[in-house]
Amino acid sequence: MKIFVFECAELDNLIAAIKRRRFKVIGPTVSDSAIIYAEIAGASDLPIGWTDEQANGSYRLKRRDDNAVFAWNAGPQSWKKFLFPPVQKIFITNKSTKGFDSQNLGEQTPGESRYAFFGVRSCELNAIAIQDKIFLEGPYIDPLYRQKRAGIFIVAVNCSQAGGTCFCDSMQTGPKAVSGFDIALTEILDDKRHCFVAETGTAAGEEILASIKCTKAADEDITEAKRITDRTRVQIHRKVDTADLKNVLYQNSEHPRWEHTAELCLTCANCTMVCPTCFCTTVEDVTDIGGKQAERIRKWDSCFMLDFSYIHGGSVRASVKSRYRQWVTHKFASWLDQFGTFGCVGCGRCITWCPVGIDITEEVKAIREKQT
Ligand code: SF4
Ligand code: SF4
Repeated sequence: MKIFVFECAELDNLIAAIKRRRFKVIGPTVSDSAIIYAEIAGASDLPIGWTDEQANGSYRLKRRDDNAVFAWNAGPQSWKKFLFPPVQKIFITNKSTKGFDSQNLGEQTPGESRYAFFGVRSCELNAIAIQDKIFLEGPYIDPLYRQKRAGIFIVAVNCSQAGGTCFCDSMQTGPKAVSGFDIALTEILDDKRHCFVAETGTAAGEEILASIKCTKAADEDITEAKRITDRTRVQIHRKVDTADLKNVLYQNSEHPRWEHTAELCLTCANCTMVCPTCFCTTVEDVTDIGGKQAERIRKWDSCFMLDFSYIHGGSVRASVKSRYRQWVTHKFASWLDQFGTFGCVGCGRCITWCPVGIDITEEVKAIREKQT
């Protein structure tokens, strides 16, 4: 690992250097009053001078009185949108004179430019690692995910402030990126300077940094970058006590709190849609009106939907209580049995985007504090 420092004005050159290596650069932009990930042409597309305020069921962008580039936290979208899109064709079949010609899209060879993700937070790096485990490391490899994930370049950003709903510190997933990146930036903005401390994670990251104007970081730059992420850690006020959490949840499946929360929950599924690790899908077959072509489409689904657990005779999880319990217990207990990690990275999105402001950290706490 090498550590460099470069001026904020050089950010545009960093993006240009990545683009020259035939990457499609996706980064944060301001759109529809939110931070949205989209293709960026240069540094001017980034949310310069913006911040966000997040709380239970509430998200607002606000102008800052400086030109901070990354002074905001996880928005409504995650990088999952690009690696595991909400709607994806997996199979097409055409009727021909000889029968049916089928094309399995998972077997396509990669042709388009690879993605470069610019501005990935530490919780998001952990979410990508969790989805890698699900889609690439189990007995069933997902060819569509593998195709999109292959060869991506990642510029991470260490958080210089905590969001109102973050709890990455409890999940040991942030606020500082430790692995899974090519370059990790820490933004330093004070009265004297606006610059970035850049840590390399791979040789590819080092090669790109060598092509822009940067210098070896001085000890005081490294100390300042550490002070920034330490300060962020202190700002995180939501906590989850993860000690023996799996057993606490398994042993409290009939805790009255599940019923209490079920009375609030709208089963809208927002929490699962915004979650960077949730991966449930459904499959739909669609034919064209002339009956010549049929497509099989994979779409995000949610365990909050009544149909999700439908088998002959009805849904296994008919009550709201059973669906909410399933989701939380999966995140903090059965995910460990399945994949060896928690299914939550503490990004806080499910708290911010729940229309009735249900807070997963409060739910877990309430169950732990008054165990049945
Ligand atoms: S917990 Fe909130 S976001 Fe999730 S399904 Fe219930 S109401 Fe919707
Ligand atoms: S469960 Fe909530 S806090 Fe945890 S990763 Fe999903 S959206 Fe983020």
